Amino acid sequence: MASIRDLHQQLVSKERSAVEIAEESLAQIQALEPKLRSFLMVTGDRALEQARRVDDQIAAGEAIGWMAGIPTGIKDNMCTQGIRTTCGSKILQNFVPPYESTVTHKLATAGAVMVGKTNLDEFAMGSSTENSAYQVTANPWDLERVPGGSSGGSAAAVAADECTVALGSDTGGSIRQPAALCGVVGLKPTYGLVSRYGLVAYASSLDQIGPFARSVEDAAILLGAIAGYDPQDSTSLKVEVPDYLSFLNPNLNAQKKFRVGIIQETFGEGLDAIVGDAVMAAVDQFKAMGAEIVNISCPQFRYGLPTYYILAPSEASANLARYDGVKYGYRSEQPDNLMSMYTQTRAQGFGAEVKRRIMIGTYTLSAGYYDAYYLKAQKVRTLIKQDFEQAFEQVDVLVCPTTPTTAFKAGEKTDDPLSMYLSDLMTIPVNLAGLPGLSLPCGFDAQGLPIGLQIVGNVLREDLVLQAAYAYEQATEWHLRTPSL
Ligand code: GLN
Repeated sequence: MASIRDLHQQLVSKERSAVEIAEESLAQIQALEPKLRSFLMVTGDRALEQARRVDDQIAAGEAIGWMAGIPTGIKDNMCTQGIRTTCGSKILQNFVPPYESTVTHKLATAGAVMVGKTNLDEFAMGSSTENSAYQVTANPWDLERVPGGSSGGSAAAVAADECTVALGSDTGGSIRQPAALCGVVGLKPTYGLVSRYGLVAYASSLDQIGPFARSVEDAAILLGAIAGYDPQDSTSLKVEVPDYLSFLNPNLNAQKKFRVGIIQETFGEGLDAIVGDAVMAAVDQFKAMGAEIVNISCPQFRYGLPTYYILAPSEASANLARYDGVKYGYRSEQPDNLMSMYTQTRAQGFGAEVKRRIMIGTYTLSAGYYDAYYLKAQKVRTLIKQDFEQAFEQVDVLVCPTTPTTAFKAGEKTDDPLSMYLSDLMTIPVNLAGLPGLSLPCGFDAQGLPIGLQIVGNVLREDLVLQAAYAYEQATEWHLRTPSL
């Protein structure tokens, strides 16, 4: 499995063309899709056209950037002009966006080769990709298990080498959780670092786009390509994008003594022993690399899940009001009147989980309940943020498990939303605080399923998160294992 660095080298030395690389990726997709179902749409023609442009540039002696010619998957909740964007929902089954999201525009400009749109839970609501209205994606390590979600298609595609890297979105864990379950690197950047223009909104105060990759270096390269201020997104941060590659040093203490905090509260009830052991072994590895290890308590952490399941549905209920059968997307056939057109369209177009969240969100925002639920949850959100602020006075990064368990079987949790929600116990507080969080492989369970280590940084400290992840990755060999498909 080639890294971006390998592919870049092959391209500039003219050992292989971008078209050849794209064809290889498309062939892998064709071979594996019957088993995996990671892609909702394969965009072969567009991929080859983009690859040809890169080859022309190379032939003309022009310099190419890191992302040029790199096969990339895009989660199907990012708008691609002229290419159907379904968000995994029936209600957007025929939606062809008239505009391009900022991230895909940036990637196209950088010469990245989009091979297709990846599967996801409908409107990014879910932890297993089973909520997609179209298909269930399989976990490349065990085809009977889920890849995690909601960006399960992107995670599986990267793990199975259907593409080199992919984009996902993370509202409560949807990049890190599937990355953990598929044994790849997934990074949710600081809220506002990557433009959300053209990302179909789920919960706008939490949504963030980020990279999936098979190595920390590839994730750093992709992050560099998509980060940066965008006047079209009002929450976009006005900051300079650093060269993320410059932070990747195998020596953890190259700058100063690195301080790693362990979030105590994540080691309690519900955590599989094998996951806890793997994460503690990773902490020992950090110690062996010379890091100072500090036990950190984040007492409000445990309120993350209930807080999220008030705030996210509230925002979703407002964001999803636009799907009414009038402006775009699915419209119910033969309604009797305008009102029944609205109600039937929404009843038929949305799946069960989306409806559940719209109902919860409508309730928590309604007069009389707003103060008791929504406002209260906002206050708790501030408390969770304060826990993190205090923690980062003592340490450079925090570590904890990414998920309480390894990949579960398809169908195992579909009838029990609450147990499904628990998958994101450890990722959600990071979204509530707007912080960067990365998951990378730190072991395997007895069935050979990958285990994820989560590394969390302070606001805009992607540098420290990447530095810690890189040093750990270079000192271990987990990332070298690949699924046998
Ligand atoms: N699994 C969580 C949910 O269902 C998080 C989803 C996400 O991050 N998009 O909401």
